[in-house]
Amino acid sequence: MKNYILALIIFLSSCSFEQANDDEVVIYTSRQPQLIENLLDIFTEETGIQVTILSGDAQQLMERIAVEGVDTDADIFMTVDAGVLWQAADKGIFDPVESEVLSSRIPQHLRDIDNQWFGFSKRARTIVYSKTDIDPQDLSSYEALASREFKGKLCLRTSKKVYNRSLIASMIEANGSKRTERVVKGWVNNLAEPVFSSDTNVLKAVEAGNCSLTIVNTYYLARLIESNSVENLGIFWANQEDRGVHVNISGAGLVKWSNNKGSSIKLLEWLSSDTAQEMYAKANKEYPTVDGIPLHPVIEAWGDFKEDLIQVDKLGSMQSDAVFIAQTAGYN
Ligand code: FE
Repeated sequence: MKNYILALIIFLSSCSFEQANDDEVVIYTSRQPQLIENLLDIFTEETGIQVTILSGDAQQLMERIAVEGVDTDADIFMTVDAGVLWQAADKGIFDPVESEVLSSRIPQHLRDIDNQWFGFSKRARTIVYSKTDIDPQDLSSYEALASREFKGKLCLRTSKKVYNRSLIASMIEANGSKRTERVVKGWVNNLAEPVFSSDTNVLKAVEAGNCSLTIVNTYYLARLIESNSVENLGIFWANQEDRGVHVNISGAGLVKWSNNKGSSIKLLEWLSSDTAQEMYAKANKEYPTVDGIPLHPVIEAWGDFKEDLIQVDKLGSMQSDAVFIAQTAGYN
């Protein structure tokens, strides 16, 4: 009996010991660890909650969480692009989070309508031009890049990248499918070169004079500017006369099978704090989702712009329509 009680005490104390160590949040993420590690260290210092990162490809990670189900270690899935977050929600890997903090801090159009995921940084995708070839007075909108005056001047990243699919989805929402198909066909007719594999390569092609215009996420331009790799590139805020610049997000949601929901929600809420917003956005030269947060100096210098206020869910739900249009228009 004595032995039994002793064993029971050891068992119980080992349980409580495990629980003390259980205050750990595991993030499965497609973001590069160096973009979030410093930030998460501060969270740990402030709260005592340990954070572990498992990084990898977004599709594989969301697949893995879905397959692992109740056995998953993941508490949070963090990735880029509303299209990808929408897919993750569609796979059923998230639990909605009803949080006063998140609902008040993150603008409504930058989170899932059912609060399954939240945007923590904004990524503007706009027009970049060669200062020697293009007078910015001749630029206006994404749609206008389809006009004949830009024949042989445009270079684009492949439509297989989710960023361009989301951009096309935003045009379908604004202009309808028929007009969007005409615009995308016009882009294809204006291409100076076959499509590129990355935003950075397409920017370098404009800098080198192989093309005069492109559409990219602004943080890629900011990186090249900061490393003094380019001097002939100008940024143009698209569609300022109508809906505004296409804006996507990076974001995260609570995994349905998380064993530590309290601390995980605490971390999501903390990511919307002023400190976290500033660090998180600056790390990749993106824009904070919370208003009034200081910007990275390179992007501060570009000034304010009007942004498309589309509900970002739609970038996901209209993704298959966007893929169809890209294919029909011959945009590889
Ligand atoms: Fe990117």
